[in-house]
Amino acid sequence: MNDAPAVPACSRKYIIIGAVAGGASAAARLRRMDEKAIIILFEKSDYISYANCGLPYYIGDIIKERQKLFVQTAASFTKRFAIDVRVCTEVKSIDTDTKSITATNLITGETYTETYDKLVLSPGAEPVRPPLEGIGLPGIFTLRNVVDTDTIKSYVQKFPAGKAVIIGAGFIGLEMAENLHQLGMQVSIIEMGNQVLAPLDFSMAAIVQQHIRSKGISLYLSTSVTGFEKDKNGLQVILNGSEALLADVVILSIGVKPDTRLAIQAGLKIGKAKGILVNQFLQTSDPHIYAVGDAIEFENPITGTSVTTFLAGPANKQGRICANNIVFENKYPYNGSIGTAIVKAFDLTVGTTGLSAKNLKANGIDHLLSTTYSGSHAAYYPGSEQMNIQLVFAPVTGLLLGAQVVGTKGVDKRIDLLASVIKNGGSIFDLTEIEHAYAPPFSSAKDPVNIAGFTAENILLKRMNAFYCDDVSSLGKNNFIIDVRTEKEYKEGRINNAINIPLDDLRGRLKEVPIDRDIYVYCMIGLRGYMASRILMQNGFEKVYNLSGGYQLWFTANEEKELAILKSEAKLERVLEI
Ligand code: FAD
Repeated sequence: MNDAPAVPACSRKYIIIGAVAGGASAAARLRRMDEKAIIILFEKSDYISYANCGLPYYIGDIIKERQKLFVQTAASFTKRFAIDVRVCTEVKSIDTDTKSITATNLITGETYTETYDKLVLSPGAEPVRPPLEGIGLPGIFTLRNVVDTDTIKSYVQKFPAGKAVIIGAGFIGLEMAENLHQLGMQVSIIEMGNQVLAPLDFSMAAIVQQHIRSKGISLYLSTSVTGFEKDKNGLQVILNGSEALLADVVILSIGVKPDTRLAIQAGLKIGKAKGILVNQFLQTSDPHIYAVGDAIEFENPITGTSVTTFLAGPANKQGRICANNIVFENKYPYNGSIGTAIVKAFDLTVGTTGLSAKNLKANGIDHLLSTTYSGSHAAYYPGSEQMNIQLVFAPVTGLLLGAQVVGTKGVDKRIDLLASVIKNGGSIFDLTEIEHAYAPPFSSAKDPVNIAGFTAENILLKRMNAFYCDDVSSLGKNNFIIDVRTEKEYKEGRINNAINIPLDDLRGRLKEVPIDRDIYVYCMIGLRGYMASRILMQNGFEKVYNLSGGYQLWFTANEEKELAILKSEAKLERVLEI
């Protein structure tokens, strides 16, 4: 919307519940748009508008000054925005009939009511704490706010070279693993799923897993924590009901759930994803109450299903949009989030946006997939690093549905570019032409995003047929597999039953390739395989497939799969012994 409607003349009273990402954003925007309003911001903790996303890095001493976590204080916010900020005050109930709330000052115990014209709910989410035996034992923490952070930080200081067990290998789990490792702790990660970072597809997660292990982290995948015990040696984390891991500190990071207590009490509608239901203007089922952030659910723009999103960017933007809608009466629709996220996992950066291939498969959405490796910038300029880009896209139209990027440098700008193409309904054809700023220290004349687009276009237009890591195990003796790398590379490791015809020899050795069989070619990362498949396809070979992501991606994913099998066999043996 370009033309801002006029601000209503009479002064109105706005109440906001929750004063961090969504709430503080809404409050500041309300003031900027409505100078005359009475605005009261309630926050049950001591702190407002702080950097939750920085908390793991403060624990790990990367952020050294605690003060830096606080973007605003109650006093500075009041001074700047003329907002009545009430910290340590919990809103206990909402009465939609009288348009009032009841709040309790958590220090004095005083309880009182306040009326409102419009109310904004931004209570966030709460960490999941399953009712496992021993979960209340000292040393077991969740991380959500500043108090949790201070508690964890002072606790871990008692164990400078101690043992940390992180339960859950999501974004916060990996950040905590890195930060506790950085403090000199011995870190183990326990994850119930068969991979880290659930939004990623397995082969991309496999790269992260290998990297984490290379840093000395013990990674227990497909492993459940069934309880905690305290014995003479200390705190024991019980795995799968049998094994135990000794821990000085345990961080539970197995997920969060929307805080809907007030919404439920107020009789607001809750959706299928268990978040507060809002319309496109972020208005709840009560027209005088808006809601934003982790507590709400909203339609995913790609699937159309209602989902929760636990990310700071959407919460902040929703805060601004909802304030606009309150002041200007529902003129600014929210378009939803495609879950664009990024995390630092030791030396790797991992970015994801849109849907994963496994998610599309689970939703029965037809899709194609391509994986490419490219340098973060021109190879001839020092310091270029490989990054891996995976795209998922619709057959026929090429509509881009999701992307994942794993690498060390330049991942952030690529994932952001890809996210904006998806958000704008763009296709892989748009990627082939995406215009980027180029000089050798920053990119190549063909950016990794262009390369990813070219490859996807080749797949879509059947100029190259792809096969994938998961397909390799089903290739048998009847399939003709050609390793087009050099003899040296081939000798160092190859896919079973592959014969070696280096790319540069292929034209002269076409007679060795059977015309009547399906041909599977591969190289290290997919590029030479693509060129080989073009030579074969233009020499009368009809069914030629190139391994997407190449030997390197297959090897990594396969190693991770074999490791998982070995571990489950080892477990089985132990069980049989018992
Ligand atoms: P919050 O920011 O959590 O604010 C909710 C506030 O409401 C809380 O302060 C709570 O005390 C208050 N409240 C609740 N109920 C009441 C009540 N009844 N009365 C008064 N006050 C109440 N996201 C990213 O995108 N990138 C990251 O790198 C990232 N890192 C994170 C790291 C950590 C450790 C954590 C915990 C989260 C991280 N997030 C990250 C998620 C991001 O912080 C949240 O998505 C975002 O803060 C949600 O905003 P919100 O306003 O909905 O809730």
